Amino acid sequence: MSTVGIDLGGTNIYAVVLDGEEVRGSTKRPTPTEGGAEGFVKELRRTTRKAVEDAGLDVADVDAVGVGVPGIVTDGSVDGGPNVGGVSERFPLGDLLATELSTPVSVINDVTAAAIGEHRLGAAQGASNLLTVFAGTGVGGGLVLDGVAFEGSHGGAGELGHVIVRQGGAMCGCGRRGCVEAYAGRRAMERSAERAQAGGRATRLFEIAREKGKDRVTSGVFKAALDEGDELVTALLGEAVEALAAGIASVVNLLDLEVVVLGGGLADKLGEGFRAELEVAMRPLLFLQPPEVRLVRAALGDSGGAIGAAVVARERA
Ligand SMILES: [Zn+2]
Repeated sequence: MSTVGIDLGGTNIYAVVLDGEEVRGSTKRPTPTEGGAEGFVKELRRTTRKAVEDAGLDVADVDAVGVGVPGIVTDGSVDGGPNVGGVSERFPLGDLLATELSTPVSVINDVTAAAIGEHRLGAAQGASNLLTVFAGTGVGGGLVLDGVAFEGSHGGAGELGHVIVRQGGAMCGCGRRGCVEAYAGRRAMERSAERAQAGGRATRLFEIAREKGKDRVTSGVFKAALDEGDELVTALLGEAVEALAAGIASVVNLLDLEVVVLGGGLADKLGEGFRAELEVAMRPLLFLQPPEVRLVRAALGDSGGAIGAAVVARERA
């Protein structure tokens, strides 16, 4: 059985063709920034075709398609936004794409898809209960409970980035204060660094970005600044680790999870050192002692969301 999994990112749409445990083909295309829901769905059809061609197959050979999208998913409908073709309203992505492709389509939150991918084919195989944490531009979370994707009553489960770790704390992009993402999201850290620099604190962060020819502070720029021993960046990453540790530990204490899978652009760049620091910060916050939960790095990397979406499509077809 061949299924296609599509991961909608801010920059690219990435699609894989999954056959059993093997990725047979893939493609990456830029995320359109305009064109409305109709144009966006047509782009997803093109992306599906390209991935299927790359696998040496025909669209007719595909049994189902899964799409992982950032944000809240209910009955295949998703909110518009910058990662969803600049569509401004909520729209029935699943139904529209199923009609366009004449194939069953499942839509799921992107990090929940990644959690399924890591559970079935990656770092969390064999676990019953797990949380996947993606630390990148923002902070996402996805839950698998009793081996099944847990999406919540209204599609909003797993939002680790908006677990509150400091009441009245730093302003988050969601409009509330003290969320994990307000300390551990790359965008939030970039803003904190800008404010600190404007207030007179020294940092090489923005110079390093320019030296690397980047117009924004990427995860690689943060890593380079950390490696140079930049004091502000070291402090900001220390706060990020503390916020993530508190947020993850709270979720583990609530759900008694076996595995926490750590991935995302920032976590991947910072690597094993970041995982180990997070584990040290998290241990004393766990209710069950000695801690039973394992904190591991994602095994599927950037492909986790797309692979997970393909698995979800297969299982729901
Ligand atoms: Zn928030």
